[in-house]
Amino acid sequence: MYDIIIIGAGPAGLAAARELKKANINFLIIDSKKEIGLPLRCGEGIREKEFIEFFKHKNYYFVKNTINIHEIYYKDLTRTFKENFLELDRAEFEKWLAKPIKNHLRLSTTCQDLKIKENLIEIKINKEILTAKLAILAYGCNFNIQKKLNLVKKQPNMVLGYGGIFKNHNFEENKFYYFFDPKHLGYLWAFPKDKKTANIGFGAFNTNKNTKKIFKKLLKRYKINAKQLSEYAGIVPCSGPIKKTYADRLLICGNAAGQVHAFSGEGIYYGLVSGKLAAKTAVKAVKQNIFNDNFLKQYEKEWKKKIGKNMKAGIIASELLYLAFKNKEIKSLFKQPTEKELREMMLYGIVPLRARFVWKLAKIFNLLEKKELPLIVKIIYNIYKLIKKDEKSKVPKG
Ligand SMILES: Cc1cc2nc3c(=O)[nH]c(=O)nc-3n(C[C@H](O)[C@H](O)[C@H](O)COP(=O)(O)OP(=O)(O)OC[C@H]3O[C@@H](n4cnc5c(N)ncnc54)[C@H](O)[C@@H]3O)c2cc1C
Repeated sequence: MYDIIIIGAGPAGLAAARELKKANINFLIIDSKKEIGLPLRCGEGIREKEFIEFFKHKNYYFVKNTINIHEIYYKDLTRTFKENFLELDRAEFEKWLAKPIKNHLRLSTTCQDLKIKENLIEIKINKEILTAKLAILAYGCNFNIQKKLNLVKKQPNMVLGYGGIFKNHNFEENKFYYFFDPKHLGYLWAFPKDKKTANIGFGAFNTNKNTKKIFKKLLKRYKINAKQLSEYAGIVPCSGPIKKTYADRLLICGNAAGQVHAFSGEGIYYGLVSGKLAAKTAVKAVKQNIFNDNFLKQYEKEWKKKIGKNMKAGIIASELLYLAFKNKEIKSLFKQPTEKELREMMLYGIVPLRARFVWKLAKIFNLLEKKELPLIVKIIYNIYKLIKKDEKSKVPKG
């Protein structure tokens, strides 16, 4: 019997494992994949500030690029704002994360179910049952166990992404690019790794459409000439954290807890943070031999203190984006804010007051749920456009 079993060895599970290793805990980490970090299903971008907060500096072999300008395109509109981001080689990054805990890692091992008992937790894998005092659930975009335990209010909204690594791109190396496409409720991103290679992908709220086809169309539309070397497809939950991230003998983190910035889809940093915090609570539980729901709720308190605001802000910004997409108002969403407001909205989900007003009205009239948006949306968007701006918007011609 282990003290702790971690299910899933992505950023959240690996950050938890590193913390348990430091505390000298008897633990196992399992993952269904054959090799850490692969297959890649990610844009691989992370904020420099957050990365350094976690890893002290950025001079690692898996940090491929630092960019300082973000460029947003929508039809004839181009907006830019500044913020340093890093572009990683995510597979190498995860392999590096796994190095200190490799003796605790069991690959090709899938958790099929888990049962919480009075004295232990049972984890059903392939043909065996593993037991532990506590489990950390970090198995990505899977909500089956959480649903079974009544920890999810409603099925999280998923954003489906398709993309790949490209060679010989025509982008500037110091910029991240975003091309918005309201028709398919999504945007294409291009994140250069160096002068030649870039991670290019497309993510959309609307998962019914053929994302790969749309992606190819957008490459043509925006004259992105690059040779595709590899491809990936994946989903990410973009409606905020689940109702409850703990239960008796169980802590949930990363994608499995819905801890993703709902507007940008960023989840690497939030996975790292929540994995580490889950492990800290788990260590306390082992040391004090208390594994009940009431004791473990301190984990939820901790992550809310650290990233709760970002999670909430991400939801508002993403709902506003959805509303703008549905109502073909993307242009005003990006044209209206000043550069400072745009940066805050894109990065921190801090929506300008007047736009927050639109969001509030949309919530009151329950417009996000409606397929066809009524006249009221037009009216509130016009209010949004009319309210005086704090600063003159600088919109370069693109
Ligand atoms: C297309 C796309 C682009 C993205 N781009 C970015 C980006 O640029 N920047 C950013 O910050 N975020 C990005 N994200 C989000 C980010 O990838 C996730 O939020 C992040 O990976 C969450 O980490 P995690 O450890 O919770 O989950 P994951 O990374 O999904 O790890 C979960 C692990 O659990 C394993 N697993 C699953 N089921 C089981 C099981 N039953 N038993 C055992 N193991 C299991 C999986 O094999 C996997 O290794 C993107 C997501 C997608 C889909």
